[in-house]
Amino acid sequence: MESKDAIAILKSLKDKGIRFTPQRQAILEYLLDTNSHPTAEEIYRQVKERFPGVSLGTIYNTLNMLKENNFLLELDCGEMSTRFDGNAENHYHVVCRNCGKVVDFHTDLLQLDALATEHTGFAIETHRLVFYGVCGPCREIH
Ligand code: ZN
Ligand code: MN
Repeated sequence: MESKDAIAILKSLKDKGIRFTPQRQAILEYLLDTNSHPTAEEIYRQVKERFPGVSLGTIYNTLNMLKENNFLLELDCGEMSTRFDGNAENHYHVVCRNCGKVVDFHTDLLQLDALATEHTGFAIETHRLVFYGVCGPCREIH
């Protein structure tokens, strides 16, 4: 599925009465632009280059607002710090336990929901799955 562009997201939030400053817009644009699954600190450093006055508080407020409106995924990568993904469509992630790199893994595992229902009787709403391992460049070093 195609990721949403900034204009469509801004319009949808504006319809809900959520106001966007140029700083907040820069945060959103950075998230949509990168495939690196950055931490809040990394987002802060990037946006600060364009808006030196931006605060870490603004970064966290904006991330929370985007998350609450389902335009952002918050990834729990185990011991590594929390990462953010501007692609909110359902997809999986592979984490390198050596360098911390997070890579997208697109595959259809929706049958897991049916399997969980079969085994537990729960009506499954969602599932989370993270793969851990060692990436190609790290495997060459070690
Ligand atoms: Zn690695
Ligand atoms: Mn991703």
